Amino acid sequence: MTEVLLGLGSNLGDRLATLQRAVDLLASHGVCAVASSRVWSTAALGGPSDQPEFLNAVIRVDPGELGADEVLSVIGAVEAELGRVRDERWGPRTVDIDILLWGDLVRDDARLTIPHPRLHERAFVVMPLLDLDPDPVLPDGRRLLELPVPRGEARPVGPPLAVP
Ligand code: AMP
Repeated sequence: MTEVLLGLGSNLGDRLATLQRAVDLLASHGVCAVASSRVWSTAALGGPSDQPEFLNAVIRVDPGELGADEVLSVIGAVEAELGRVRDERWGPRTVDIDILLWGDLVRDDARLTIPHPRLHERAFVVMPLLDLDPDPVLPDGRRLLELPVPRGEARPVGPPLAVP
């Protein structure tokens, strides 16, 4: 099975419930998680300094017959469904879902960049990713463990999300 990894983040509202709801909604749209990292707490990088911390997780999914474009459409639907709760200033979204890796696929066009371009630079992606794969290798052959230490701080705060 092609290894497909999605990154999830939330820094508004009931963040843990939102991450779990995202996993459940993805499954209801045919993008079924087969494994989850632990839940990590990470400081927001950039933006206003008083932003709440993010909760982040990485999930491995079985896309079935769906291709990357179709999974991106599902992600958009799930983000819209969960993004209805916003603060009055239209601040940070309730949830952000990214396609991090899709097997050996390399793609860079107007719609999708895979692997996610900032994947290896950010602790909020790298640390949960290492829960699922202790020695990830990018499609170009670079080992994540040999790349510069990612930016930001992350600490595990909860067990893996429930997968269906
Ligand atoms: P954002 O919500 O800021 O993550 O941006 C979402 C947009 O980024 C989507 O409309 C996608 O077209 C685009 N995008 C490019 N590469 C990716 C990726 N690997 N995963 C998710 N969205 C991506």
